[in-house]
Amino acid sequence: MKKTLSPKSFKLKLKLFLTRIFDSKKYDTPCNICGNKIFFRGPNSRLSTTNQYPWCINCLSLERHRGLRLLWEKFPKDFLKSKIALQFSKEPTVDSEWFNKHVVSVYGGENSLDIQNIDFKNEVFDIVICNQVIEHVPDDKKAIKELLRVLKKDGFVQMSVPYPMQLAKTIDWGYPKESDHGHYRNYGKDINLLLDELVGKGCWKEIVVTDPVTIAQDYVYILCRSKNALLSILEQFKVSY
Ligand SMILES: [Zn+2]
Repeated sequence: MKKTLSPKSFKLKLKLFLTRIFDSKKYDTPCNICGNKIFFRGPNSRLSTTNQYPWCINCLSLERHRGLRLLWEKFPKDFLKSKIALQFSKEPTVDSEWFNKHVVSVYGGENSLDIQNIDFKNEVFDIVICNQVIEHVPDDKKAIKELLRVLKKDGFVQMSVPYPMQLAKTIDWGYPKESDHGHYRNYGKDINLLLDELVGKGCWKEIVVTDPVTIAQDYVYILCRSKNALLSILEQFKVSY
């Protein structure tokens, strides 16, 4: 079947194509997802926090996707091969072929799921991936509880939110703020308290990932249902606790 581009994706590709003609940079370090070496400015013409062009013109990955990719690649492929994964929102971080089964939910589109009320039974998934999603939902506490509910006892959630280290305290507007990408809130360092409350102390871990192209850093969270499950997952990821 012929693949068709959604209007949004088409507009994005066209915009990127036009931008490419006038404003792109070639770097020595290739995109670790697709191998391309030419990059654009990011969305809204932004640069990375390290003043580099962050947007891969081929796979459309940004800093966070490539940093996360490095983390995921630490995971043994034969371990992932037996796993059933659920991912909220499409992004180029992981490859479907790594998993036994990979369910991707695109809100309002393919396999659309309400993250605050996930239409799956308890303990179905080995892995749940949720990057830059919970800032878009009204009830983030309910969403995090749901991510853990559909997770098997020995599984893990890999979650991230935009730039939590840039703010001391979370700002919550209580409505989707148009001028802030439609976010209900922007998380601050106090996301740690939220995770302690909802996931449990010692059951989650913050990991810093680095994009090999721009060297920009990002924060990633691994959430588990018990301390033992977390220790075992971190061992697989080769991350020390
Ligand atoms: Zn790429």
